[in-house]
Amino acid sequence: MAGNLLDYDLEGLAAFCDSLGEKRFRAVQLYRWMHQKGQADFELMSDLAKSLRGKLAGVAEVRSLPLISEHVSADGTTKWLFDVGAGNAVETVFIPETDRGTLCVSSQAGCAVGCRFCSTGHQGFSRNLSTGEIVAQLWFAEHRMRQTLNLKEGERAIDNVVMMGMGEPLQNYAALLPALRTMLDDHAYGLSRRRVTVSTSGVVPMIDRLREDCPVALAVSLHAPNDALRDNLVPLNRKYPIAELLDACSRYLQSAPRDFITFEYCMLDGVNDTPELAHELVRLVKHRISCKINLIPFNPFPASGLLRSSRERVQAFAQVLQAAGIVTTVRKTRGDDIDAACGQLAGEVQDRTNARVRLAQQREMQRAVIPIVVNGIRA
Ligand code: SF4
Repeated sequence: MAGNLLDYDLEGLAAFCDSLGEKRFRAVQLYRWMHQKGQADFELMSDLAKSLRGKLAGVAEVRSLPLISEHVSADGTTKWLFDVGAGNAVETVFIPETDRGTLCVSSQAGCAVGCRFCSTGHQGFSRNLSTGEIVAQLWFAEHRMRQTLNLKEGERAIDNVVMMGMGEPLQNYAALLPALRTMLDDHAYGLSRRRVTVSTSGVVPMIDRLREDCPVALAVSLHAPNDALRDNLVPLNRKYPIAELLDACSRYLQSAPRDFITFEYCMLDGVNDTPELAHELVRLVKHRISCKINLIPFNPFPASGLLRSSRERVQAFAQVLQAAGIVTTVRKTRGDDIDAACGQLAGEVQDRTNARVRLAQQREMQRAVIPIVVNGIRA
């Protein structure tokens, strides 16, 4: 199979062009055609030398992901399901804002972390996406939405990317890094570092790597103010407990494009949403780290056995944080009518495979390591 040029950041593409005996400026031309104009056909890249077009034919291609389905919500949220082979699918979601839009991108088919409230986590891990498969989601969405929104030449549909789709991006770092560089590159999508967010469940060593290699905005899935509860909700906490995680966040802030870390907190009825836990969260972060807390209404799915906190409970929790001077937002639910919560559509595809069996095996292994009971729920 021909090499996929979406796998390369600009440096990688320049090296590839060099291997064909072509100069760097040819790589820049090619990169701009692919990412800025969305062109996949070398023959239509009109200012590319004919000799280069000839060399590319047969050895390279711009390969997007096969589209399985497109769902458009009443609020304009658009969710695509892409086929990544072997019965696996990944999801990408476009969330329209007043001006442009945000794209939620997946980094893995399934996820090995196994957070209890996450539909993707319940599917188990299948495989890492390649750089090209990560970038293809943005490539497809940007050019699709330009057409859908009838944008003029040079206008962009997406100005915000969040690596919050399926998968733990920092467990697929080698593929993530060139993808981030393409998102930021002025010859490609030219996104601001402040508007590209990597969301992690807390892979501490890789937070440090990201700080050194490509500091973009960072969001951390916290979901609990103490280790006992977080061990239960985010199994990775057993490896990297909260104190280590917050230290890594503090180090990250020294290079981060924003002067705060966003902590995500999924509100689970009767599990992590009490006023006492809100006060504990205040004690944990106040005077320790500059942060913003994003409370997320849980999107229930049958296998989780969990319920969404009531609106009143979320508001009460938010008030405790706000009264303590912590910037707190409650995420709007978007695209409820199309199952826009991460992993829900892909889960339907995976249900036709052996995903649930794999997950059961992974969970048994986790239980064998540390059985813990918190609020009557066993991890
Ligand atoms: S919340 Fe993120 S890290 Fe946790 S299981 Fe889901 S995709 Fe994986």
